[in-house]
Amino acid sequence: MFTASHHAAWRHVLSLSRLREGENVIVLGAQAGRNQYKSIAVQVARELGGEPAYLEVENPNRLPKSAIPALRSADLLIDLSHAHDPLIRQLGQDGVRTLTVLEPPEILERMLPQQSDKARVDSAQKCIKAARKMRVTSAAGTDFEVALGELKGNSQYGFADDPGHWDQWPGAFVTTYSNDGSAQGQVVIDEGDILFPQKEYVRSPIKLLIEDGYIKAIEGGVDAKLLKATLESYNNPEVFAVSHLGWGLSRNCRWDALSYYNKQDVEGQDGRGFYGNFLFSTGPNLSGGGSRRAPLHLDIPLMGCSTFLDGVPMVVDGVVIPEDQRV
Ligand code: FE
Repeated sequence: MFTASHHAAWRHVLSLSRLREGENVIVLGAQAGRNQYKSIAVQVARELGGEPAYLEVENPNRLPKSAIPALRSADLLIDLSHAHDPLIRQLGQDGVRTLTVLEPPEILERMLPQQSDKARVDSAQKCIKAARKMRVTSAAGTDFEVALGELKGNSQYGFADDPGHWDQWPGAFVTTYSNDGSAQGQVVIDEGDILFPQKEYVRSPIKLLIEDGYIKAIEGGVDAKLLKATLESYNNPEVFAVSHLGWGLSRNCRWDALSYYNKQDVEGQDGRGFYGNFLFSTGPNLSGGGSRRAPLHLDIPLMGCSTFLDGVPMVVDGVVIPEDQRV
């Protein structure tokens, strides 16, 4: 049973997701998952006039043929499983809105999205689309540059309102993909920065030396050795590629949140969406329209960085600069 405030939060987010009278809603769960929101998602979707059904599959990364007609019938897919089957992207191309919900209830409520978050994220994405160069620096030693313009970015703001939009409640941030082979320089993952999916705070700085779009060397202490071992274990050069890049615009994130949870109980949107972070990542670029597949994707939010687009500051020392992106 959830509290009245949690119920109100679901109503708020499904309303922001423009759930309309008569729409088909599929709530997707995984057999081995906790699926803690299956009842409340169905209940609130019904209260708002939708036609909800709960669908549970064995493996959400390989959706069975029998589930496809139901998923295709959805106007809004509420994904409690974080499905990575390619069908999800295809559903988006066909106009299905997807809202992924994974975080524990108190994080969903603390980071409750607002309509105004979308406007701030849209402003940031507009800047990214117009830019041809992104440069990121930090006092810890990051000095990194990429060319932009060939691939597209993704915006997240915590609700799935527009046809085909994929989002996750909660989290507001913008990302883009660099032109293939263009990333150059070094990224220093400093003490206290976060590694996903490891869900670990870094305890000793890791220096990534990047040439022509790929990490060529990893230097540092124990954390660097662990990261290097992880990447090398795949025997696949594409896991060393630079993936999406961007910055966080969420209100009410807590950088320390991850330290209070067991790993299986938390997803990490506090770190990914943290206001003024630099979100670096590695691996694939499929969702930017590129062709690179990789068996591993790391999200690495960094604190205290400065991010510039064609020389114009978006974030300086972790502070968001453009007026229309600020809280
Ligand atoms: Fe990512």
